[in-house]
Amino acid sequence: MAQGHIIPFLALALHLEQRRNCAVTLVNTPLNIAKLRRSIPPSSSVRLLEIPFRSSDHGLPPGTENTDSLPYDLILKFLISSLRLEPTLSSLVADLAAGEAGFPPPICIVTDMFFSWCADISHRYGIFHAVFNAGGGYGFACYYSLWLNLPHRRQNSVSDSGDAGEEKDSVFEEFTLPDFPEASTLHITQLPPFLQSADGSDPFSVFQRVVLSKWANADAILVNTVEGFDGLGLDYFRRKLGKPVFPIGPVLLKNSPTKTDTGMTNSPEICKNWLDSKPARSVLFVSFGSQNTIAEAQMKELAVGLEASGTNFIWVIRPPLGFDINSEFRDEDWLPEGFPERIEASGKGLLVRRWAPQVEILSHESVGGFLSHCGWNSVLESLSCGVPILGWPLAAEQFYNSKVLEEEIGVSVEVGRGKEIVVRSGDLKDKIEMVMVGGAKGNEIRRRASEIREMIKDAVNEDGEGKGSSVEAMDEFLNAAVVFRGRKIN
Ligand code: UDP
Repeated sequence: MAQGHIIPFLALALHLEQRRNCAVTLVNTPLNIAKLRRSIPPSSSVRLLEIPFRSSDHGLPPGTENTDSLPYDLILKFLISSLRLEPTLSSLVADLAAGEAGFPPPICIVTDMFFSWCADISHRYGIFHAVFNAGGGYGFACYYSLWLNLPHRRQNSVSDSGDAGEEKDSVFEEFTLPDFPEASTLHITQLPPFLQSADGSDPFSVFQRVVLSKWANADAILVNTVEGFDGLGLDYFRRKLGKPVFPIGPVLLKNSPTKTDTGMTNSPEICKNWLDSKPARSVLFVSFGSQNTIAEAQMKELAVGLEASGTNFIWVIRPPLGFDINSEFRDEDWLPEGFPERIEASGKGLLVRRWAPQVEILSHESVGGFLSHCGWNSVLESLSCGVPILGWPLAAEQFYNSKVLEEEIGVSVEVGRGKEIVVRSGDLKDKIEMVMVGGAKGNEIRRRASEIREMIKDAVNEDGEGKGSSVEAMDEFLNAAVVFRGRKIN
């Protein structure tokens, strides 16, 4: 539905085909299938199957099949439309299980976290069902716990004086998750605004609770992460669901998908040539993922901070909050006066509009830092290259990702939190300098990022003797699916 979900599914499909010799079928709606077709290498025989979907039947603009340009106020409608795919998916699985369409019957169905209800369909046909969580263990443990334990107001309140139960207790500041105390204290500003006030009865919470509570029906949870640095969250799910949880990551694409079909800028050669001209580890990459953006005032502060830091940077610039992703760029309104001209003349910065070849950029040796919204794919892509992070979480579980990256894993420093908060260019400048070149703390963050890169290399090592933890987890998952074959659960 979102690129942050579609991309890791494509990566998983290619991985299973190329490394595990599995026959893989990817199922999605027509426009997403058309895009996937362009991203699959010609050598691959991953099969693509379309299921019909007409967004206008669900009160959505025509052609809405993912969140690329979906206005925020339609997200719920879009999510709910996914529940209506049940009959279509059910009859598709019936056909596949009967060996129709020329494919051998599947032994395993892997679905996105929002399609956990497919467990019932899989089990009707004796097929193993796994939810693939493209987010991290810790981030999703917090996400899961927060949605399933609503409301948070009053529950764990701590007043300024430390006395629970005062009048102030509906405006808590800090709290611990009742079923995940190891997560340590969360601050109210680490909850997306909606979660701060939801009591569980609104349609968004109801949707979340339906799909999240059905994770318990899956036969396994696959997580795109590494046991070695994300064990807290993985253990939470093992305890909570009593199911096997397999950290199989990072499963990543070798090249970023292009976005040329939507008119978005995608300029691998321009980025590569520019990066080639810069010294090793001297460039900060700035991007807020595939669906988030910041406010106009924040863009200006960020621009001033970047310029003041004197660092080289590539910034994936998107229209600010309140503007459609396809809006005309209004540099004169959104950026400080003369900023694009100055950074071009000095050679310090490159602005890439809307969409960049992120994987290629992060794996270039000139990149030394990533100012990121902490979407989990971005985190994995960065850490696989040993690139430390400046976190600016904006939505969903990004807040908890940012927290674990800074407090537990030690590869990040947070520079901002949320779409509307005030960030100061001076603070940005200091933190950019610290992560890119700075003293003791910066050294430690950079050292730790290199250490995590090595940990990731070990986890995905496929050699017999030194087989990595993620490879073992993938073995165990595939074995479990084969052993399950034919077991029908009503
Ligand atoms: N991405 C990209 N170019 C961009 C923005 C994003 O290739 O300009 C890719 C990025 O490499 C990652 C995915 O889109 O694989 C974004 O996923 P993530 O989980 O980081 O964040 P989300 O977009 O879901 O918030």
